[in-house]
Amino acid sequence: MANTRSDEARVSADAPIPLSVPVLSGREWQYVKECLDTNWVSSAGLFIERFERATAAALNAEHAVAVVNGTAALHLAMVLLGVGPGDEVVVPALTFIATANAVRYTGAVPAILDVEADYWQLDAAKLEAFLREGCIRHNGTLSNKATGRRIAAILPVHALGHPCDMDAIIAVADPYGIPVVEDAAEAIGARYKGRYVGTIGRMGCLSFNGNKTITCGGGGMILTGDAKIAARARYLSSQAKDDEIAYVHSEIGYNYRLTNVLAAIGLAQIEKLDEHIAAKERIARRYYDGLAGIPGLTPMLQANWAQNVHWLFTILIDSTRFGLDNMTLLNRLLEAGIETRPLWQPMHRSSALRDAFVHSEITVADRVHAQALSLPSSVNLTPEQQDRVIASIKQASRA
Ligand SMILES: *Cc1c(COP(=O)(O)O)cnc(C)c1O
Repeated sequence: MANTRSDEARVSADAPIPLSVPVLSGREWQYVKECLDTNWVSSAGLFIERFERATAAALNAEHAVAVVNGTAALHLAMVLLGVGPGDEVVVPALTFIATANAVRYTGAVPAILDVEADYWQLDAAKLEAFLREGCIRHNGTLSNKATGRRIAAILPVHALGHPCDMDAIIAVADPYGIPVVEDAAEAIGARYKGRYVGTIGRMGCLSFNGNKTITCGGGGMILTGDAKIAARARYLSSQAKDDEIAYVHSEIGYNYRLTNVLAAIGLAQIEKLDEHIAAKERIARRYYDGLAGIPGLTPMLQANWAQNVHWLFTILIDSTRFGLDNMTLLNRLLEAGIETRPLWQPMHRSSALRDAFVHSEITVADRVHAQALSLPSSVNLTPEQQDRVIASIKQASRA
C-alpha cells in the first residue's frame, strides 16, 4: 500500500492538479479482499446486494439495480420503457454524449432541446412549447410534427451536479403521459426541493465511473419506485434468464450486471457519500469566494430550490472582459500544471448524432459551451491546491 496519507502530505507544492480523480480512502481494500478470499468475484455475491441496498437507503430510493456502467443504466432504462425504432426521446443539448448514445442504441433518436441560461439544465419552458406547438397528439400518442416520430420519453440530465427543475419538467410531461427518466450520472446526492435526484422521475440512472463523486472504477445503477420495473431491470440485465438452472430465455437480454468486486468498491464508496459531498461543497465555497469579482468570470449559479453537489465546479469566461477565452485559459492553466476542461460539444453539433431531431431554438447551450471551463474538483483537493488554481486564474486574467 504505497499511497499512504503521509505520502500524500509530501506532494510537492507545484505537483500537477488533476481535474477529478477517485478518492479511495474507506474500506475498499477490506471489501475487495473479502471478495477474493471467498472467491465471490463475479456477477453474483453479497456485495452487489449490499451496494444496492446502501445506495437506495442513502438516496431514499425504493429499488436500486446495479449495472456495469451509467451508459448501460440509461440504455436499459430506455429498453424498460419500450423505446425503440420510430421513437424520439427528448435530451438536453448540453450533456455528455452517453445520454444521447443510450437513446440511439435502442434505434430511437434524440430530440435535442436547449438548456436554460442560469443553471444550464433542460429548459422546461422550451420543452413545454415544443410538446404543445411542435408535436401533435394522435390516438393517445404524441408525435413530433416535423418527423412523425413518437415522443417516447424525456431524459433530463442533472448536469455538473445541479438538479433540473423537475416539478416543471414533470408538469409538462404528465398531461401527455410521457415518462421522465433522470440522468443523474453527475449528481449523486444532489437534492431538488429536498428530494434526491434520480428518485423523482419514473427511473433515475447513476454512474460510478472513475471521475464521478462515487466510483466503482466503472459501474452504474437504475433507481425506481416501481417494483415491477426493478424486477424487469434485474431480469434483462442478466441475459433474461427464465430459469436459474436451464438455459432458457424468452427475450433478448443483456450482460449488464455489475460484478461483486466492483460492488465491493462501490459499497465502501457509498459509505463515504456524505463526506464526499461535504468536500465538494467546501471546494465550491472556496471557489465562489476566491473567484468573486474577477471581471468576465461568472461561476455556475445555484437555484434556490437546488442542493447542488458541485460535481465539477464550472465557470464562464467572457473573453472580452476577462482578456482571454476559455480554451486559452485552459492552456495557461495547463502550463501551471492545472488540469481543466471545457464542457462537452453540444449534442446538436455532434456529427455522431447527425440523425437526431434538433429543435430550432438552441442558443444557450452554444453560448455556455463557448465560455465554460470546469476547474479541479477532486474530493481530496487541498485548500492550498485550490488557492494555486485561483491565483493562476487571477494571474491569467491580468496578462
Ligand atoms: C458519466 C456520464 C454518463 C455515463 O456514465 P458511464 O458510467 O461513464 O457509462 C452518462 N451521462 C452523463 C451525464 C455522464 O456524465
